[in-house]
Amino acid sequence: MQFYFPDSQDQVDPSFDFITEQRSIHRVRQRDDRYAHEVIDPPPYDGLLISKPIVDGLPGTTAKYTEAQRSRLHRVGARRFFRLDHGATDLKIMGDCGAFTYVREHEPVYAVDEVLDYYEECGLDLGVAMDHLIFGYDATLDAKSASDVPADWRFRQGLTIELAAEFLRLHRVRRCRFEPMAVAHGWSPLSYAAAVTQLQNIGYSRIALGGMVPLKTPDILDSLKEVSVALDPAAQLHLLGVTRTAHVQDFAGFGVTSFDSTSPFRQAFMDEKDNYYTLDGSFVALRIPQVDGNTKLRRQVTAGLVDQRSARRLERECLRRLRSYDKDGTGVEATLDAMCEYAALLGTKKDRSTEYRRTLEAMPWKQCSCTVCREIGVEVIMFRGADRNRRRGFHNLAVFSKRLRRELDRADARS
Ligand SMILES: [Zn+2]
Repeated sequence: MQFYFPDSQDQVDPSFDFITEQRSIHRVRQRDDRYAHEVIDPPPYDGLLISKPIVDGLPGTTAKYTEAQRSRLHRVGARRFFRLDHGATDLKIMGDCGAFTYVREHEPVYAVDEVLDYYEECGLDLGVAMDHLIFGYDATLDAKSASDVPADWRFRQGLTIELAAEFLRLHRVRRCRFEPMAVAHGWSPLSYAAAVTQLQNIGYSRIALGGMVPLKTPDILDSLKEVSVALDPAAQLHLLGVTRTAHVQDFAGFGVTSFDSTSPFRQAFMDEKDNYYTLDGSFVALRIPQVDGNTKLRRQVTAGLVDQRSARRLERECLRRLRSYDKDGTGVEATLDAMCEYAALLGTKKDRSTEYRRTLEAMPWKQCSCTVCREIGVEVIMFRGADRNRRRGFHNLAVFSKRLRRELDRADARS
């Protein structure tokens, strides 16, 4: 089972000093900043997924790449761009068109030729044909007639298959080097299976299942079960955006050989509670926003809602007490008090003291052996600025990859 991590240029700066919060004046982002696969050893994923809209942007969405990065990616190719050309790591690079970004359009926004150009120029290992998301799932439609299925759903499924046919035809004509993958969309177990059958008939042996992110796990499993009946023994399935490690062995049993997800990384700073992963659970990270670096906080100060001097004092107090607690293990209450006082000054409505206490008492960062936790210790648990938050995301990726291996080993042991 291979795990692909969707890239959005979230790197960390190795020169960042956690005490002074200064960086090297000689830092050059493109040259010095590090990807998760350069920080965590072994790399926490089997491959990277780069989406065309993340690279190029689209009307209404902003690209995560600067113009300079984009042209560098095209010029040197993805392997060198991600510094995977040393031969030390065998990561694959997959490309897709980020169907989610144009889901509201009537049709996908790219021409098939343009997508092939992009995959070829970047020198990708795998390229996903353009697809169009179906937002809806209704298993009861399997017992009804075709005319009961919303016309837009049928249109999107059909269009995705047509585009996949054209993609494969041009892939052959142009003798492209990357391995082609198509996306099956559906609204029920049988409709997913029907799409997979059609894509196999066209000539695909690698097929991604799209639109499953919002589905409940039983619905995913029902659909996979039906798909697996139609699947050629040599064909392989990819789950787009689905992370449910507890079911990874079931997925594998139905022919799934890869999936991708940003969740482990993004939860580090997007989730309400599950910010710091452990093998069997997670902890909330301790929110100590930067008076000088946090946009929301700066706005509150400017508007006169927060007193800057008090904020600075409490911010420093939180950092001091937390670091001191990390050293000698005393002062949980004092640390908690400082954090609650700071949160109150900032007008935070949510009371996180119970969750904070749990994190403090367990000191999970002391038990983790990943590079991030070994190098920066207690700083990893602070919800504070990109340099800590992204490193916590890298830590989560490392733990996630261990969870995944563990689930797969359990499956092996049983079989
Ligand atoms: Zn760690």
